[in-house]
Amino acid sequence: MTDRVVPLLDARALRRAPKVPADLVPAAAILVDRLRRPLLDLRISVTDRCNFRCIYCMPKELFDNEHCYVPHSELLSFEEITRLARIFVRRGTRKIRLTGGEPLLRRDIESLIRMLAGIRAELAVPLDLALTTNGSILGRKASALADAGLQRVTVSLDALDDVVFRRMNDVDFPVASVLAGIDAAAAAGFAPIKINMVVKRGYNEHQVLPMARYFRDRGHILRFIEFMDVGNSNGWRLHDVVASEQILASIDAEMPIEPVAAAEPGAVAQRWRYRDGSGEFGTISSVTRAFCGDCTRARLSTEGCLYLCLFSQQGHDLRALLRTGADDLQIAAAVGALWGARDDRYSELRGEQTLRSSKRIEMSYIGG
Ligand code: SAM
Repeated sequence: MTDRVVPLLDARALRRAPKVPADLVPAAAILVDRLRRPLLDLRISVTDRCNFRCIYCMPKELFDNEHCYVPHSELLSFEEITRLARIFVRRGTRKIRLTGGEPLLRRDIESLIRMLAGIRAELAVPLDLALTTNGSILGRKASALADAGLQRVTVSLDALDDVVFRRMNDVDFPVASVLAGIDAAAAAGFAPIKINMVVKRGYNEHQVLPMARYFRDRGHILRFIEFMDVGNSNGWRLHDVVASEQILASIDAEMPIEPVAAAEPGAVAQRWRYRDGSGEFGTISSVTRAFCGDCTRARLSTEGCLYLCLFSQQGHDLRALLRTGADDLQIAAAVGALWGARDDRYSELRGEQTLRSSKRIEMSYIGG
């Protein structure tokens, strides 16, 4: 990925720059980009490895034994992640989501969660700590994650039917284990749990209603995600996208629904509820109803590159700053300059040929 990483400061200039003690870093005003979008959410990818080979994310043919993952020495350490997170929180970030790859594969992830949760008390801010997982080892980990201070869990699940689910994860993983993981998370106190279902035409659109029925009464919030053109390896075609409108129509025909107002600015999902009061679900329509105008998210890759858009072609190397002795104020200034110059709105411009043909970062690397 190094050819697509931009150095932020030259190391010699850094050595000449005055050091500022970390406790003097001011609680700066919230950062706003060129489209007046604040930096409120940070998604941190803790590993680019995954034990699933979902056909729309890490197709087996490309993510095989030959695939080069980021070597362990290149990963940000937990201390480095926590230091960066603290800098972001000081600049206004209020939500941190751990993702990947599969974040539960990162050894001792509970320690990282404990360290990140410590920022909440240290800076006396309402920091929301969440994690997205494929649920495969959630059954074993749920209570340790809750004990460590994790507040919210999102589980990806694309089908209830075992045959369909195994075909989508492409490693023959049984759906029963993920459902058990969701139950364990609920027992550990996570509520509400969000369930992400990517709908891909020809694979799982017939699972929309069974999934809606199953999660409606359990108090978990199912979100239907339109298959996106992230990265370059999933063979995305517009034809494979099942539009949220179609999903809403099929649910409404069986279980009448109505819209619910957004709970917060910048939320990716549109909210819906069943008219009989039996629960709510969401639609994430990044293809048919782009929400760039509300995007308050930045992404930190496993090796410490900052990406300002899920569809970015270029990351900005924060790890180099960390490892060449930059102090917190210098790093905060670099992040501020990057965010201040941000004008990305890929999904709104998706139709333009130059964008479609360009090389983009894979979701498993940048973090979903
Ligand atoms: N391994 C974790 C998991 O499965 O949730 C976290 C990483 S995964 C990349 C994060 C989310 O991105 C998942 O909900 C996944 O379904 C979604 N995702 C991956 N590729 C996608 C695509 N092309 N379009 C839409 N969603 C996608």
